Amino acid sequence: MSVIQDHYGRSFRTLRVSLLQHCNLGCVYCVAGEAELKEANAAGDSLPVEQLLAMIRRLKDQLPLDTVRLTGGEPLLYPGLASLIRGIRAAGIDAVRLTTNGFLLERMAPALKEAGLEAMNVSLDAVDEDVFARMSRRHSVSRIIGGIDAALAVGLKVKINTVMMKGMNDSQLLPLLDLAFARGLTIRFLEVMAMGHLHDQAGRYLVTQEEILERIGEHHRITPEPRAVSATARYWTTESGHRFGIIANESEPFCRDCDRLRLDSSGHIYGCLSSNQPIELGLSESAAEWDEKLKEALAQKQELKFVGSDLSMLHIGG
Ligand code: SAM
Repeated sequence: MSVIQDHYGRSFRTLRVSLLQHCNLGCVYCVAGEAELKEANAAGDSLPVEQLLAMIRRLKDQLPLDTVRLTGGEPLLYPGLASLIRGIRAAGIDAVRLTTNGFLLERMAPALKEAGLEAMNVSLDAVDEDVFARMSRRHSVSRIIGGIDAALAVGLKVKINTVMMKGMNDSQLLPLLDLAFARGLTIRFLEVMAMGHLHDQAGRYLVTQEEILERIGEHHRITPEPRAVSATARYWTTESGHRFGIIANESEPFCRDCDRLRLDSSGHIYGCLSSNQPIELGLSESAAEWDEKLKEALAQKQELKFVGSDLSMLHIGG
């Protein structure tokens, strides 16, 4: 395998697969309202398990892929999820992870663990049910917490992801931190990104890394950890040994060593979240054609920083 690389030495090692555009929550950072969610939920079929596996196996042949993260839309709504996980493990990729809103997790956790899932990020933007409803347009905090506990009970590794939005859920920073720490979990706070309908107005909702650290620092003595190569998050530990992270896409961009490739639910690849130029991969194409397309995707990567996109993460995969 000749490794595809750009002049910063970046290549693709992590594949994020958006399994479908459908979602059972309507989070404010993904969709402008129920109409946009309805449109996504009416979108055509996603790729069947066998086709996705064939694409992942081909990508593994052509790239030094070591991690696959399954996302969406809401991946727990994808009908063949457990067989897909089994197939990815059988293809020799051990690090199979999931990003989910946790709404269906309580009943699905045992099957996911049994299929070979290693770890998951559960998105949770509030502990308070009213604030949660403002963020997601649904009521489901207790159900999601039940899902997290069910995942932990079967031995899955869980991290919590929270998008912080000024005037929306910033009151929830410390309650969420307490919820995570009480379970011994790592929580990551995300700076909101200028995507989809927020393309031109993410700035007004931005809670910066500095603000997050200041608020946490008022309650905990915190020590930064060195940043891991290609990581999206930086982490801190508290005096009591708890750990939290911040994904500071805006304040401290991490494009320079980004190793992520995205595959959407229609079989298009993207080398960067800033790009809304899908590149179609066909299974009938040759390895040389895929090589060219992968180089094209790698060239989509920004040099320094995310520049915004009209595509919502609901479509390209979060
Ligand atoms: N439905 C799953 C979930 O909720 O985790 C997976 C897909 S969702 C698009 C994945 C995650 O993307 C969200 O929970 C959120 O953390 C992140 N996300 C989506 N839009 C975002 C934005 N504009 N800014 C920051 N994070 C965003």
